[in-house]
Amino acid sequence: MQQALHARSSLEVDLRLGLANGELFAHYQAVVDPQGKVHGVEALARWNHPERGAISPMEFIPLAEQTGLILPLGQLILRAACEQLVRWAASTKTAHLSMAVNVSARQFRQADFVDQLRELLERSGAEPTRLKLELTESLVLDNVADTIAKMHAIKLLGVTFSMDDFGTGYSSLSYLTRLPLDQLKIDRIFVADVLTNRADAAISRTIMTLAHSMGLEVVAEGVETQAQQDFLVAEGCDQFQGYLFSEPLPLAKLEAYL
Ligand code: C2E
Ligand code: CA
Ligand code: CA
Repeated sequence: MQQALHARSSLEVDLRLGLANGELFAHYQAVVDPQGKVHGVEALARWNHPERGAISPMEFIPLAEQTGLILPLGQLILRAACEQLVRWAASTKTAHLSMAVNVSARQFRQADFVDQLRELLERSGAEPTRLKLELTESLVLDNVADTIAKMHAIKLLGVTFSMDDFGTGYSSLSYLTRLPLDQLKIDRIFVADVLTNRADAAISRTIMTLAHSMGLEVVAEGVETQAQQDFLVAEGCDQFQGYLFSEPLPLAKLEAYL
């Protein structure tokens, strides 16, 4: 336990330093339509540790959330995303791309989150309608009234919303209809076994039907095989993300793939 505590606090020190030293940055994963055309990307945080090399987000995101470092990290990824949208807007080849950014509860709960976002959009000159914020069910449920108010204020800026990892948390249909969402993302745990597990197929189908009946688009995550995509296309899924198309990539590699 002592060792685990020590490792954790030393990683926290490293993360603080890493943020200051520019060791954290974003990779971008393509989101494609049924024809395979890239519709947009999701920005995913990466940490290149000077001694340990790449550290998984599954390790450093929870640590960042516990320590509050998710605030500067979240701001860094959001800023990079907005600046990238501005660069993409300058070329006809990339001007149509949208950018999804994950927002953690702690970040979203900041009293001045809406103001921060407005300022960032204004300062960067990014087109707000190209920016999509990904929220999770637990974030929403943690304070439904505050979430709804903030989401409406952010929608007024032009920014759109996606519900990430949909179906893995405690979804409540009554709150879902009260949120100004644009998109639901089917979590990759359902997509993984969509062809072999009847329950996962039923859940995926239900999410697609639900999304469409609410006028929302639906994205499947973690699509790794053509057979999975074929099933999802047949069921009406709008967009796809996963290793079948592309891993999260550094910017230059992603742009070569466009
Ligand atoms: P997420 O938002 O669900 O992101 C999708 C994860 O699925 C990414 O993991 C991505 O690399 C992985 N993935 C994509 N395609 C496939 C596939 O075909 N198969 C499989 N098995 N996995 C696939 P990653 O990059 O390790 O990120 C993990 C989580 O960390 C993210 O899950 C997200 O919740 C969080 N995260 C990452 N970047 C940020 C960030 O900037 N801010 C916040 N708040 N959270 C972030
Ligand atoms: Ca996400
Ligand atoms: Ca997800």
